[in-house]
Amino acid sequence: MITGRCYCGELEYEFDKSSVQSQMLCLCRECRYLSGGGPNTSIVIKEETFKFTKGKPKIFKRGDLENPRVRYFCGDCGTHICVESPPRPGMLVVKIGTLNDHSWFRPESAIFCVDKQGYHQVPEDIPNYERLP
Ligand SMILES: [Zn+2]
Ligand SMILES: [Zn+2]
Repeated sequence: MITGRCYCGELEYEFDKSSVQSQMLCLCRECRYLSGGGPNTSIVIKEETFKFTKGKPKIFKRGDLENPRVRYFCGDCGTHICVESPPRPGMLVVKIGTLNDHSWFRPESAIFCVDKQGYHQVPEDIPNYERLP
């Protein structure tokens, strides 16, 4: 199992490593709000094996969008853990910075490079997509 937690430790979670489907960097403008400014560094996993083992996350959905993403975060320290994304039913996008061990992360693609900023370092040996593949 892969385990992780929020910054303050109020939330803990786990999921099966075999449910990891892809690893990526997203450089879109929206992700920059959530990452703090860098590329959003995340993995896509099958939702079925994921569970919170400690605490209850807060949930945020934008009310002004027709099909908003559902964001799970710690109501105490604000750490954003994962996202349900309507274009990816049955999947969760998990922020790798919240995994207890994320040293194995290797991005396989970079998406929304159209929004890339001058200070962003994106590996050139992986596919860089202007938007989505
Ligand atoms: Zn927390
Ligand atoms: Zn993004």
